[in-house]
Amino acid sequence: MQYSEIMVRYGELSTKGKNRMRFINRLKRNIKHVLSVYPAVRVAADRDRGHIYLNGTDYHDVAESLKQIFGIQAFSPVYKVEKDVTVLEKAVQEVMTGIYRDGMTFKISSKRSDHHFELDSRELNQVLGSAVFEALPQIEAQMKNPDITLKVEIREEAAYLSHENIKGAGGLPVGTSGKGMLMLSGGIDSPVAGYLALKRGVNIEAVHFASPPYTSPGALKKAQDLTRKLTKFGGNIQFIEVPFTEIQEEIKEKAPEAYLMTLTRRFMMRITDWIREQRGGLVIINGESLGQVASQTLESMQAINAVTNTPVIRPVVTMDKLEIIDIAEKIDTFNISVQPFEDCCTIFAPDRPKTNPKIKNVEQYETRLDIDGLVARAVAGIKITEITPQTDQADEVDDLIADLL
Ligand code: ATP
Ligand code: MG
Repeated sequence: MQYSEIMVRYGELSTKGKNRMRFINRLKRNIKHVLSVYPAVRVAADRDRGHIYLNGTDYHDVAESLKQIFGIQAFSPVYKVEKDVTVLEKAVQEVMTGIYRDGMTFKISSKRSDHHFELDSRELNQVLGSAVFEALPQIEAQMKNPDITLKVEIREEAAYLSHENIKGAGGLPVGTSGKGMLMLSGGIDSPVAGYLALKRGVNIEAVHFASPPYTSPGALKKAQDLTRKLTKFGGNIQFIEVPFTEIQEEIKEKAPEAYLMTLTRRFMMRITDWIREQRGGLVIINGESLGQVASQTLESMQAINAVTNTPVIRPVVTMDKLEIIDIAEKIDTFNISVQPFEDCCTIFAPDRPKTNPKIKNVEQYETRLDIDGLVARAVAGIKITEITPQTDQADEVDDLIADLL
């Protein structure tokens, strides 16, 4: 028998009272985005459950995708069976024979939402239990903590059987906490920061600063590939590329070497904040980790942060590098992050950046620059693309074609 449907149990959102339908609709949309790689799959959601209709799609692939989506507490694959006692008996026997291993115990747990059905739930348990004994005479029934609980649900349109309960990713559906701008480099830390923000329901847009020709198309593609990895947790992500060359050249020419990094970061922060305001974001998210590099001392953070009052969320700020790498491996971004494409900061990085920049000095050096003009020209050149989970396959096709040529 083939699974026909997956039943989805919602996560934390069940406690959210009035907002419940908003949460559910958001989760439904996210699931649709993530599963858009399987064109036959249909997604529906009611107050209590989500339903994913497989329409012939391989269950295992869909289950792997579902396990990653935030806002799902658990899910169960389900067999759809005709509402007929004889058919149900046969189906139960087939399912149980398929999963039974020596010494296992079981129980049947029936529920009848269609009250016109000829047997009530107690009778169903008995009749279907007997059918199991007939097929597997050696099996034992056990009411408390059996190895197998076969759930039978009689609904209006059909009967449904399920015996597995698979743990979901938990968290909140992406988008239910509002929008934030993720400053995404090509490094290890910022994708992890993005993942952690997604987990708590933040709809992220990725802002990436590129400085061609100093940075290569490879560095840009790397940031896009990292963004695509993040789409599997809650759906499509807007990728915002900001041209940063002029600003970096200006700073390099006019400011002392030790302050390059601080000034550069302040521009990134200003521009990200401008984009955030335009696009209705509430916060900025970055991958800063305390003490990791010169730009990430508390003094540096303060000097960089001073250009805005917008809350800056730093999900990995107190994590050790190894803890961050663990997560990066788990979410499959690590191997992309370590690809050797220099990003804009590495190339312009001074040998000895200041670890305790003084705001007074910073502001003094900035008087040499046309801040408003530089920012305006950068934001005028922004390019926005929507990254979908699907693009993965498009890329594979590109690679195939490239191989053939
Ligand atoms: P990451 O691993 O995320 O690159 P990092 O340890 O290399 O972080 P920095 O290079 O100091 O740290 O960058 C600190 C943060 O600034 C990054 O985590 C990211 O949020 C942001 N950032 C740095 N470079 C860029 C960039 N080119 N585009 C967008 N954001 C950037
Ligand atoms: Mg970096």
